[in-house]
Amino acid sequence: MVLEPTPRADAYRTLVAERKACAACEGCLANPSRIDGGIHDSDRLGPYSRWQGNLDAPLVVVGQDFADVASFRKYGGWPGPDVGTNLNLVALLREAGFEIQPPRRGVPDDRLFFTNAVLCMKAGAGRGRQQRVPAWCFKKCSGFLRRTIEIVSPRVVVTLGTGALAAVRRAFEVKGSRLRGCVGKEEPLREGTVLVPMYHPSPTVVNTTRSMETMRGDWCDSVALQAAASASRTSRETVRGH
Ligand code: SF4
Repeated sequence: MVLEPTPRADAYRTLVAERKACAACEGCLANPSRIDGGIHDSDRLGPYSRWQGNLDAPLVVVGQDFADVASFRKYGGWPGPDVGTNLNLVALLREAGFEIQPPRRGVPDDRLFFTNAVLCMKAGAGRGRQQRVPAWCFKKCSGFLRRTIEIVSPRVVVTLGTGALAAVRRAFEVKGSRLRGCVGKEEPLREGTVLVPMYHPSPTVVNTTRSMETMRGDWCDSVALQAAASASRTSRETVRGH
């Protein structure tokens, strides 16, 4: 990605360089810059941002963590095109008025900005994607999350699941109720940005906790999301009209 030399792009480049150098979670999480000598790493904040890494995005989506080292290697440092969570997310965003393409290795879509509350990969053996990330890793990565949201400065931040919700609230020192009681409802996060908590759209959650049909309603009914999507369409049409 070639970024214009703007203060926003400079701040992002600095953030990415700091992420690559960070060893705060060593022993628990593996930094992409150190997995296989960094061959799957990029000039973006993380694998999720390779798919959607628009610094002018009206919407930032925050997931909990990306994957374990094995999955990171399997997909060459990109979000998997056949991963249920990713495909469900595309469908839910469509309900909210945002059209994005499913992930494709080597091809950024860059309409929105996606990131994770912890930026490095689960390094333990055995439980793969289901490994738990210790609470202290979320705390260590909190500064990266806050700075990312401040740099992009979107109208809306959507969190996927309880871990991401807690991480964003902690990063901005705001309190709120449990996910069950606030799903889809906007809450103030910082000036010009609201937080909209959503359930995680993984196949496991869809099959056990909240169906896709109910989640579609959550995303479709969000006034903040629909307004952000509408403003984004208007601004794209204005640019095309010039
Ligand atoms: S998860 Fe965040 S805080 Fe932990 S090592 Fe990676 S970049 Fe650093």
